[in-house]
Amino acid sequence: MTPEEFRHHGHQLIDRIADYRAKIATRPVQSTAFPGSIRAQLPATPPADPESFDEIFGDLDRVILPGLTHWQHPNFFGYFPGNSELSAVLGDYLSTGLGVLGLSWQSSPALTELEEVVTDWMRQMVGLSPAWRGVIQDTASSSTLVALLCARERTSGFSLTRGGLQGEDAPLVVYYSAQAHSSVEKAALLAGFGRANLRPIATDAAHALDPEALATAIAADRANGLRPCAIVATTGTTTSTAIDPIAAIARLATAQGLWLHVDAAMAGSAMILPECRWMWDGIEGADSIVLNAHKWLGVPFDCSLYYVRDAEHLIRVMSTNPSYLRSAVDDRVRNLRDWGIPLGRRFRALKLWCLIREQGVAGLAARLRRDLANAQWLATQVAAEPYWRVLAPVHLQTVCVRHEPPGLQGENLDHYTQAWAEGLNRSGAAYVTPAVLDGRWMIRISIGALLTEREHVEALWARLRGRA
Ligand SMILES: *Cc1c(COP(=O)(O)O)cnc(C)c1O
Repeated sequence: MTPEEFRHHGHQLIDRIADYRAKIATRPVQSTAFPGSIRAQLPATPPADPESFDEIFGDLDRVILPGLTHWQHPNFFGYFPGNSELSAVLGDYLSTGLGVLGLSWQSSPALTELEEVVTDWMRQMVGLSPAWRGVIQDTASSSTLVALLCARERTSGFSLTRGGLQGEDAPLVVYYSAQAHSSVEKAALLAGFGRANLRPIATDAAHALDPEALATAIAADRANGLRPCAIVATTGTTTSTAIDPIAAIARLATAQGLWLHVDAAMAGSAMILPECRWMWDGIEGADSIVLNAHKWLGVPFDCSLYYVRDAEHLIRVMSTNPSYLRSAVDDRVRNLRDWGIPLGRRFRALKLWCLIREQGVAGLAARLRRDLANAQWLATQVAAEPYWRVLAPVHLQTVCVRHEPPGLQGENLDHYTQAWAEGLNRSGAAYVTPAVLDGRWMIRISIGALLTEREHVEALWARLRGRA
């Protein structure tokens, strides 16, 4: 494609996306696709000859768009807000259009230095001290894996330079709340700790990690000759946005010499708001933090911010230094390949830069406050309605609810809950996520799509009562 053809189709593409966003509320939120229905409409073999972009756009309308569940829809209350603010979309286009790669500082100096600047902007925005250094990873899952690899190497005194974990005398142990995201367990398994050395810890009535149960587990492991290594605490758990008590956990981690990683993938954005900072009181006692700019904040996937206090340690664990990547300035620059797992890196900083500049910190804060207020409003309505319950504290923008008609209990209640949620989702009018909390199905209502205003939450509440 020539630059002139690109200009032509690019203008068309921008128009299409702008139209999609402008009219998104007229679409059913959940895709009507069934398994295999999209694939069946597409040729199984690649085109031998060139096709026109008009044909591609035609298939986009006919096949692809009906196969989407619309995350940017104002009635999207599923999973978490996966916001894609249009200013940041432009930043993403820029990144792709410029087509540069960061392998080392020298391979594209601005890619590295803008990443340093915007991760430091975000550090200031969420109230972290200057002791922290940030880097952009693809996802929280990768960030947590990096954290646990660093923890493993700190506790084992760089076992990777010897026999690895396989050469250690005593197994290393990782602790996390039973409500931690599945990526924590996955990272611990992939980092080689072994399932026998993973300790999901009981949570309290508010679904937060119980520091006493944690202390007991650590002591028991030490008594049995094991080596406690790392704790992963969560600020804003996936199911109910529970807040683990970071200060108490950090004290324990420091006293015991354990690595503390804080998973604030979802809730981290809210730390822009001073009134939310109590949620990670004690955060300066952590070793690493992850927060996803690609969720509530508004950067299109993917953009996960990983912060560490000891960047030297991160680099020691992650660095490789083949001769063709060395340069004369290596001692004066960051080579971000040594700050994570992949060698190559996209220019992700551009989309975060565009978002923060176009919205301003005040604009971002106002939107998050809008969503927090909408969640409080909904929780108040639900709590006041007979036979409806709010099942967990509403700290952020997620409201866990259940309708409990008289006489329905146990599995019957579960079937009822899943059926009305499924019916709502299938109607296309709104989209919610059923999940299990305390062994029973309930409905998670995650508020915070860019277009979701109070009227949409009011309409959702009317629909919930209508369905139930
Ligand atoms: C979303 C989420 C994750 C996983 O995020 P990815 O970036 O998709 O890996 C992990 N932990 C928490 C608390 C989350 O909310």
